[in-house]
Amino acid sequence: QAKKAGRNTHFVHQEDLSADSHQRLDIEQALRQAISRDELRLYYQPIIALKGERLVGAEALLRWQHPEQGLLSPDRFMDVAEQSGLIAEIGEWVIRRACEDAMRWQQHGLRLGVSVNLSAIQIRRNNLQSVIVDVLNESGLEPELLELELTESMLLEKSDAFLQLLKNLKKLGVSLAIDDFGTGYSNLSYLQRFNVDRLKVDKSFVLDLSSNEQNRAIVTAVIQMAHSLKLQVTAEGIEHQLVQRILTSLGCDHAQGYLFSRPLEPDAFLGYARSYSERA
Ligand code: C2E
Ligand code: MG
Ligand code: MG
Ligand code: MG
Repeated sequence: QAKKAGRNTHFVHQEDLSADSHQRLDIEQALRQAISRDELRLYYQPIIALKGERLVGAEALLRWQHPEQGLLSPDRFMDVAEQSGLIAEIGEWVIRRACEDAMRWQQHGLRLGVSVNLSAIQIRRNNLQSVIVDVLNESGLEPELLELELTESMLLEKSDAFLQLLKNLKKLGVSLAIDDFGTGYSNLSYLQRFNVDRLKVDKSFVLDLSSNEQNRAIVTAVIQMAHSLKLQVTAEGIEHQLVQRILTSLGCDHAQGYLFSRPLEPDAFLGYARSYSERA
């Protein structure tokens, strides 16, 4: 790369790189402290069943309440978390907190599911199953209410250990969803082989669904395929009522997006959920 770009740019490139890695190290250091200082937060974005417009659960989305920089989204620190290995500890915290919060909702009479994002690093470590077993036991959450979100690229992992892990998780009763569906490499036979329960259609197909005919064709096909494989479909990134109406007419099962709500801090989510259930 540097050779192609010529000699002079080589140095510039190197400077950039070292600045970048310093920054990385700073973030890593701060992230380590964030864990011990309790600066991580889980926000919850409501998930709605389109048929009958019922609230069915929420996706747990990680945030970092940074002392100087404010509330940070995962795209600001996830890479560092993964590359430093801190994601293992963070990921475990996410699963535990999400299950505890879902139990808290039940104490308010709200029986809602909770979806948790997993990272590739997490599924390669061999303690994921025992973490989930422990958390379910300790929190008391029914396994049926916990959904784990994987991405298509994780399904490329073909080791027996991975296959066994997913089988065991399914045996526990938790469900599996494929996140950002349509953006990665998808060998559709994996959907059957791994006994996946749900596809989450990526928001890039959903955001402009009402005006983009190609995306409408893709989403239509994904819903049909999913249903004939007995999988459920969630659409992410619904911002407009017209898109909701189209998805409803296509038979899409669940929906998530700013139209319903942005991700909310736990108390705000509880408020949202309570008013939703009173409305029904
Ligand atoms: P994701 O799992 O696909 O989550 C959905 C993302 O879309 C969230 O971004 C959410 O805020 C955003 N979103 C929801 N509705 C709309 C909408 O109507 N319009 C638009 N434009 N965006 C919408 P967020 O919270 O910034 O998270 C980004 C990604 O970070 C997540 O994508 C997920 O891959 C990752 N992530 C979040 N929390 C965790 C976690 O606890 N563990 C791991 N491993 N990854 C996480
Ligand atoms: Mg997700
Ligand atoms: Mg994702
Ligand atoms: Mg997604």
